[in-house]
Amino acid sequence: MKIPFNKPAFVGNELEYIQEAIRIGQISGNGFFTKKCQQFFEEKFSRKCLLTTSCTDALEMCAILLDIQPGDEVIIPSYTFVSTANAFVLRGARIIFADSQANHPNLDAESIECLITARTRAIVVVHYAGIACDMDKIMSLAQRYNLFVVEDAAQAIDSYYKGKHLGTIGHLAAFSFHETKNIISGEGGLLVINDERFQKRAEIIWEKGTNRTAFFKGEVNKYGWVDIGSSFLPSDLIAAFLYAQLEKLEVIQSKRKSIWNIYNEGLIPLQRKGYFELPFIPDFATNNAHMFFLVCRDGETRDKLIAHLKKSDILSVFHYQSLHQSPYYSNLHDGRPLPWSDYFSSRLLRLPFYYELSMETQKWIIDLIHAFFIPEKE
Ligand SMILES: *Cc1c(COP(=O)(O)O)cnc(C)c1O
Repeated sequence: MKIPFNKPAFVGNELEYIQEAIRIGQISGNGFFTKKCQQFFEEKFSRKCLLTTSCTDALEMCAILLDIQPGDEVIIPSYTFVSTANAFVLRGARIIFADSQANHPNLDAESIECLITARTRAIVVVHYAGIACDMDKIMSLAQRYNLFVVEDAAQAIDSYYKGKHLGTIGHLAAFSFHETKNIISGEGGLLVINDERFQKRAEIIWEKGTNRTAFFKGEVNKYGWVDIGSSFLPSDLIAAFLYAQLEKLEVIQSKRKSIWNIYNEGLIPLQRKGYFELPFIPDFATNNAHMFFLVCRDGETRDKLIAHLKKSDILSVFHYQSLHQSPYYSNLHDGRPLPWSDYFSSRLLRLPFYYELSMETQKWIIDLIHAFFIPEKE
């Protein structure tokens, strides 16, 4: 049996709600289910939320909202997905890459201050694996230097920092519902607007630079082109699918947390023997069971373990390659080495993780990992 790395979960009323959207007869953006999804998050977060076609799009909206201009500097971890940086590069920003912590891929809050210059406009944090960055430190730094903070909360649904939901702490935040995340709609995302100053303009950018939203609310008597923008709002068919998932958030999360715990308990003995490190979760953070990763002692061991599992048709995968070393940005990077980002690029391994993953399969994967590090003597 082939064990994929990820498998999208279909958990309830997805098809029924898509049919319902068709029956209602409006499947373009900002329809019945879009409003239901936004309401779900607005109640949860007490913030204005806009559904987007992806987290990438929500991040692009952030860059527009912050009015990032050519030459502005934005501090971003090197260990992240390209979209985190791309959204700001599209507006002409210069990316100043920050390093990861030694014990976690999240950016090292202590390493940011020396990167701030007169041109710095924003810090973008990524809550890797849904584990919070040290937001108090980052927010106080931002306040001191008058910078904006954007949370790339793509992986951070149902996760908290000192009791605050991730994505509600920075000025703006972006979530993802890509099929590799905990809650999915194939492609999909959410912009969370924590600073009310951005609210009106966000609705305009979302609607292709028009004040169409204000028109539908009856605030203006005709709508037209008032700002830049793009087609950032998803079809209501996507929102219908997403709403079915949101209704099952707790079911999905409790299953994922039990999967996470089974891996953790099964692999702790090997961590104690020093074969690898397991995810570190600081006291200020919760674990939303977005992924399960281990950090091998060296890149060669990581690659051999991937090959070892592959022999049994189990797909484990590495993750981000440092963006400061990427073909696109390495020549534009200021040349500082970022050793911890490179460390996780070469050593981190993610194990299969999806809603339907059975306990038996997990036990089998755990046994294979044990056998890799401690081969049975015949
Ligand atoms: C998945 C992910 C994204 C991109 O999300 P999309 O919805 O696919 O655009 C961005 N940043 C991080 C950290 C992610 O994990």
